[in-house]
Amino acid sequence: MKRTRLGIVAVVCFAVGLAAGWSMTWWPSTTPTVSAAGAESAQVVTSPGPADDGKLRIICFGAHPDDCELQAGGAAALWAAAGHHVKFVSVTNGDIGHWRDAGGPLAKRRKAEVEAAAKVLGIATEVLDIHDGELMPTLENRRTITRLIREWNADIIMSHRPNDYHPDHRYVGVLVQDTAYMVAVPFWCPDVPPLKGNPVFLFYPDSFQKPQPFAPNVVVAIDSVIEKKLDALATLESQFYEGGALGSAALLPTDPAKQDERRKQVRANHARRNQALAERFRGKLGEWYGKERADKIKHAEAFEVCEYGRQPDKKELARLFPFFGE
Ligand SMILES: [Zn+2]
Repeated sequence: MKRTRLGIVAVVCFAVGLAAGWSMTWWPSTTPTVSAAGAESAQVVTSPGPADDGKLRIICFGAHPDDCELQAGGAAALWAAAGHHVKFVSVTNGDIGHWRDAGGPLAKRRKAEVEAAAKVLGIATEVLDIHDGELMPTLENRRTITRLIREWNADIIMSHRPNDYHPDHRYVGVLVQDTAYMVAVPFWCPDVPPLKGNPVFLFYPDSFQKPQPFAPNVVVAIDSVIEKKLDALATLESQFYEGGALGSAALLPTDPAKQDERRKQVRANHARRNQALAERFRGKLGEWYGKERADKIKHAEAFEVCEYGRQPDKKELARLFPFFGE
């Protein structure tokens, strides 16, 4: 989850995890089995990524089971609808991300939630079994991220910025950017074949100003898939309807009419978050869509190129985000 300074979405997700290994998700039953015992002794079973069919391969990392959905659910739906391969990875299992529930049962519930969201979006998803709130930028976690990126044979990798507000968000940012360049180095993590080159790494937006504010290179209109994104977010009930880590029983009406009202309110809050991004980056939308079209865009997602990955020019970005001709 993302705490927005705009206060539009006031749910903070705290995740947790019983460090152990990996937990898989519903779709390409990929994941490697890595023992938590440590790098050197880890038994790694690599699994095939998406088909090498000429389509794009995108892997998005979030700290908690809801971050990728919030930050890139619209772009993911656009890519997936065009046959591209998208995978969301929650790096922690979210097991402290609720005001009433915690531990294994909450981790299982949140995994089921993102699996339902993935079905709506038409993508793959995975939750790593690392405790929420306890993620560290360790060598072993860097190896884990490296393996996931290589197995997906990713063209595009996304994460939080390393100066986001939540320690788990920050360390996901550090871990992911630390795999830039390294994913192509053959003797780094030699148990998984290296990528052929340095892919494009992108950051999600946040509102933090120091050391520098988020400055997007690409802003994508998601109006055509906003209902799908909102449907996906609606499956994450523990976080939004129930309020996540900072929620309370007071949020949960017992009257069915009021429950319905609350669901609508949550949905509207999510829509407003993407409306705020369209407003904030209206000028950048104009660069991609032309001013006339950009002025009509209501909902957007925005992404900034990380300096450590390959530096795409505008033509390559248009190839990676094949949405601007719509
Ligand atoms: Zn989060």
